[in-house]
Amino acid sequence: MQSIDNYDFAGKKAIIRVDFNVPLNENFEVTDDTRIRAAIPTIKKVLEKGGAVILMSHLGRPKKNPDPKFSLKHIIPTVEKDLGLKIQFADDAMGQEAAEKAAALKPGAVLLLENLRFYPEEEGKPRGLAEDATDEEKKAAKKALKESQKEFTKKLASYADAYINDAFGTAHRAHASTALIAEYFPNDKMFGYIMQNEIKAIDKVLESPEKPFTAIIGGSKVSSKITIIENLLKRVNNIIIGGGMTYTFIAAQGGKIGNSLCEPDMFEVALNVLKKAKELGVNVYLAKDTVCADAFSEEAHTQVCPSDAIPDGWMGLDAGPEAVKEFTRVILESKTILWNGPVGVFEMDKFAKGSKAVAEAIAEATTKGAFSLIGGGDSVACINKFGLAKAVSYVSTGGGALLEYMEGIELPGVAAIRK
Ligand code: AMP
Repeated sequence: MQSIDNYDFAGKKAIIRVDFNVPLNENFEVTDDTRIRAAIPTIKKVLEKGGAVILMSHLGRPKKNPDPKFSLKHIIPTVEKDLGLKIQFADDAMGQEAAEKAAALKPGAVLLLENLRFYPEEEGKPRGLAEDATDEEKKAAKKALKESQKEFTKKLASYADAYINDAFGTAHRAHASTALIAEYFPNDKMFGYIMQNEIKAIDKVLESPEKPFTAIIGGSKVSSKITIIENLLKRVNNIIIGGGMTYTFIAAQGGKIGNSLCEPDMFEVALNVLKKAKELGVNVYLAKDTVCADAFSEEAHTQVCPSDAIPDGWMGLDAGPEAVKEFTRVILESKTILWNGPVGVFEMDKFAKGSKAVAEAIAEATTKGAFSLIGGGDSVACINKFGLAKAVSYVSTGGGALLEYMEGIELPGVAAIRK
């Protein structure tokens, strides 16, 4: 497999799928350039090695072509500032101008293509279907789009000699620019540094974890995390199941959970997880005690109760002090730690103590030599809220992509490069 470190870019053009899907304010200014900054090392590497760069990305969810609100034109000043270089722009990724600018691109130069999602071919999702379209009509539209998607992908590929995927955030999508395009570069396709680092960190945790390995899986619903839990059971020594999921597990075992979040249709699944964990010798930790509230509000009255004896009218919104003690002990004894999902409603300070303690324990374990990976939407917001992102080994940039990777699904963006 090629890598950007060993590939010879001299005199070549590399088309790089980046994730420049950044937030903009009402004046269309970039409010957080983390994703742009993250892609700079890959871009600079190609330029330093004598190559030229064509950047392609999506921005938001445009519904038509063009959709000026979602133009990548808005981010040019930020890209130029972060890269320290003037860049060129082609305002239609499929236009004559894009082809000409790509063809004329000199080593050391960078061309940014307009938002790929202006074209439905990027995602392969038909647009403009009538609300009452029949299944037949939907099928026909999809089939027609598949055909034009081939042309779209081929054209993008024609702009360059090599393909680099550095957009981990969209690696779980089989889109034209994230996966399909790779087939046009059988010997000239590779991961960028973001992708490389993400895959290395996740594989270290999933494939060769130093033991004991503890996974902390929190969040609201069992239904959205069950596949991850099942996939992790085979790999971990300890699993802390926290957050709203706690109460489905407790209720399934006959506990009283008051008004706490509960998914009765997941009882059987929850009991199966506990049974399977026992068979595999995996320790499952559920919060022994709970901070309960009489309303889902920062102003609510609170009390600490055993998690299986929550009074009627009260709901469990955070791990209690005994639970925090136990979670902390388990985390501090671990050599590999994976954290996805808060163990309480961390957005409200009143119910953030459990998640904060988990974050602090992970940071301390990391200082003592453990490898810690944090990822998947809310856990990243959580670790940032407590200012501990730098105190853990790796914070993943890919929400949905990381979750699917943890579920054991092969990501199309990863597979397309590896195969
Ligand atoms: P998820 O997206 O499934 O990872 O869920 C994250 C959300 O779960 C956060 O917004 C938390 O506020 C929420 N959450 C955590 N603990 C609880 C709880 N005990 N009850 C209700 N929601 C919770």
